[in-house]
Formats: sequence, C-alpha cells, structure tokens
Amino acid sequence: MTQQTETMTKNLTDIWAKRPLIISGPCSAESEEQVLTTARALASTGKVDVLRAGIWKPRTKPGMFEGIGVKGLPWLVKAKQETGLPIAVEVATARHVENALQFDVDILWIGARTTVNPFSVQEVCDALKGTNVPVLIKNPVNPDLELWSGGIERLIKAGVKEIGMIHRGFSNFGNTEFRNAPMWQLPIEMKRRYPDMLLVCDPSHICGNRTGLASISQKSIDLGFGGLMIESHVDPDNAWSDAKQQITPQVLLEMLDHLVWREESSDEKEFLNALAKLREQINQIDDELLSLIGQRMKVADKIGQYKKENKITILQTNRWNEILAKAFEKGEKFGLSKDFVTRYFDAIHMESINHQNKIMND
Ligand code: PEP
Ligand code: MN
Repeated sequence: MTQQTETMTKNLTDIWAKRPLIISGPCSAESEEQVLTTARALASTGKVDVLRAGIWKPRTKPGMFEGIGVKGLPWLVKAKQETGLPIAVEVATARHVENALQFDVDILWIGARTTVNPFSVQEVCDALKGTNVPVLIKNPVNPDLELWSGGIERLIKAGVKEIGMIHRGFSNFGNTEFRNAPMWQLPIEMKRRYPDMLLVCDPSHICGNRTGLASISQKSIDLGFGGLMIESHVDPDNAWSDAKQQITPQVLLEMLDHLVWREESSDEKEFLNALAKLREQINQIDDELLSLIGQRMKVADKIGQYKKENKITILQTNRWNEILAKAFEKGEKFGLSKDFVTRYFDAIHMESINHQNKIMND
C-alpha cells in the first residue's frame, strides 16, 4: 500500500464512522464541468462528507438517459483530487464493480432496483470478494424486509466489512404524497436487526420533489438515522435525471443548517433519571395493556362458545361498525389518530376472530 493510499484509507475510515454522515451529489454525472462545479460547491459548504454521482443509471423506461458510463469516472477522480471528498457510485453488475474499483471509487452502493434481484446482488458480491471497499445497500423497491436483509447477508458472506443501509422508500401505485412511500416501520425494524450498522436516509428518492426534503430528513434524524444521502446539482432544473427532486448546494446548506441534530443518548444524570422514571411508567402501562387485552380475549372466547352452541357466525359486521365508531370518537378525545385506532382495532379484532375460530372448530 502506498503512503497516499494509506492516508486515504485512514481518512475514509474516519469519514465512514462520522455521524451524521452526509452524502450528496448529482443524481447522474453529466459532464466534467457539471461534476466539478457541483463538487466544488458541495465541498465549500463544509457539511458534505462524501460526493455521490450515478454513472450507470437504472431507468424505468428505455430511451431515458441511462448514465454517462465509464467515461464519467475520471471526472469523479478529478473532483476527489480537487476537493478531497471521497466518491461514491452505484453498482449493479460485476463490471460496474471492476470499473469503479479501477478508478479507486471509495464507496459503492447497490440501488433499489438491484436489491430486489438476488442474482444481481450475488453477482456484485462475488465481484467484491477480496476487496475492502465499503458498500451501502438501498432498500428494495418493494417493501420486502427479507430481501434487504438478504442483501446484507450476501455482503457479509462476501467478506465486506463496512456495510451500510440506505432507506429510499418503497414504490406504490397511484398518485400519493411520496414518489416512494417511506414506510418508516421497515427501516426501524432494520435498525433493530442491525443496531450497529450505518443507516442513511435518502429523502430525495422518497419525496421525488424538493419541498418534502427537509421534513423527511428531520424525521429520519428524530428516528436516530446515522446520515443522509441527498441529491444536489448546480442547475437542478436542467438535470438529465431526477430534475424535480434535486437542489443546489446552497439550498442543501440552508436545509442542513435548519435541521435539529440529535444525540442517540446522553450521559447527563438528571436526564437519565427522568427518562428511567418515564420508561418505568411505560413498562407498567404496557403490562397492564397486555393483561387487559388477554382478559378481552377470554371474554371473546366465551362469546365464541355461545355462538358455537347457537350456530351463529363469528363475524357480525354491524356490531363491529358500532365498536369502531365509538372507538374513533373516544380515540380523538385521547389524541389518537383515526389511522392508529383503525389499525389497533383491526389487530384486536383479528386476534378475537382467531380465538373464536379455534373454539368453533375444536
Ligand atoms: C439514485 O440514487 O440515483 C437511484 C437510482 O436511486 P434508487 O436506487 O433509490 O432508485
Ligand atoms: Mn436519482
């Protein structure tokens, strides 16, 4: 290892460990000029840790701009030499990995359209064997946690030491608020499974527009994410891909300055004591809730028994609508959203039905 590579590697280890880790850059590398001007402006914010740019673009439809290809890699190298920012690109095939590594790309990421395909993920992993490049893996386009987790397992098996996850939301049909619905419960579950692994939020691909970026970024910080990947372009309106969601480095800087950064924990005694007391209350209430739900199921069992003896169906829609209507009203008084009350009662109802089903068929 040359001294220069050694310094670079050491640097990268520090950068990889930095929280929050801010990755930014254009959706696609378009020209040397665009890469360099964007990189310079991002570096001058003093807030960006890694420069991203798509070289090979997985586009939904043919005929769209599919990336500049290998020709763009020297532009990124130049941007790194000038700004000192490590560079990251998306890889989807073994050839992409080989090309990226020939140009000493510092960090690779696997895109959402690749994570869905275990053959592709495995091909990338095979090409990564014996290298020591950090790899980020985006969630698959569909909300399948096992595919995301399976991709991570493949990377671990290939010997990749530094692995991170990127939450970029999940495809959905129809005109919704988001380009890709965040479905926060999925990254939260991934954080539970891999508590020490870097988890980055990509608000650009979640929002698909510029206006939602700040609130999605803040939400991810509030949930304890370790960083952000945000698309930035010196001339967003004329970007060759994802124009609607890209922001200038200046707008990025203003946004980052307005975010409220949080610590995962604190050593302050007073805070810890207050938190411990409140958590004790929560534990107590959770115990009571579970015991009450258990009691509710026992009553449902009795009803099931009567229904069985009198040959009555389990599901009685009118009764259920009545319960729900009352619950919405009460829930509102207690500050519970209609959405939560619906999901809570659906779960309770389903458990009740399962209990009664068992009794009927015993
Ligand atoms: C991208 O980062 O530009 C990209 C193609 O994202 P995703 O894989 O999330 O669609
Ligand atoms: Mn993009």
